[in-house]
Amino acid sequence: MDIRIGHGYDVHALGEGLRLVLCGVEVKHTKGCIAHSDGDVAIHAICDALLGALALGDIGKLFPDSDAKYKGIDSTLLLREVVELVHSKGFDISNVDCTIAMQRPKLRPYIDTMRERLADVIGIATERISVKATTTEHLGFEGREEGVSATAVTLLVRS
Ligand code: MG
Repeated sequence: MDIRIGHGYDVHALGEGLRLVLCGVEVKHTKGCIAHSDGDVAIHAICDALLGALALGDIGKLFPDSDAKYKGIDSTLLLREVVELVHSKGFDISNVDCTIAMQRPKLRPYIDTMRERLADVIGIATERISVKATTTEHLGFEGREEGVSATAVTLLVRS
C-alpha cells in the first residue's frame, strides 16, 4: 500500500477590526488575521500538509502573495485547488487532523461547522476531518493574542 503522511504549519498575526476566518468559517471576534489572502491559517496549514505529503512544495510556492489575483482570496478556493492536485497525482485523502492555537475566543462552538465545511471542500466524510482548538495558557504570541498558529497532518492513500 502506497501511503503518504504530510504535515503543515502556519502562523498569522492578528489585527484589530479584521474578519477572522478559520476552516472556511467566520468566527465572531474583535481581531482577524493579517494576510494577503483571507488569512485562514487553519486552511493554509492543511494545504501545506497535503502538499507536503507529496513533496509538492508549499502554499507560498503555489499561490505567491506577490500575485494580485490572490489578494483577499477565500482560502477554501486554494484548498480546492490543492485537493485537485492531490487527485491528479493519483492519491485520495484518507483523513485530516488540524489544531488551531489561539487564546481567544473559544472555538468549541464552531468546531462541528468547521469540520463540515472542510469535509465539503475536501470531498471526504466529516468523520475523517478533525479540528481541535487549544489555548497556549497565555504563553507565547498566541497567548498574548498577537497571532494565531495552526498545525495539520494528513494521510494520503494511492487511489
Ligand atoms: Mg498563511
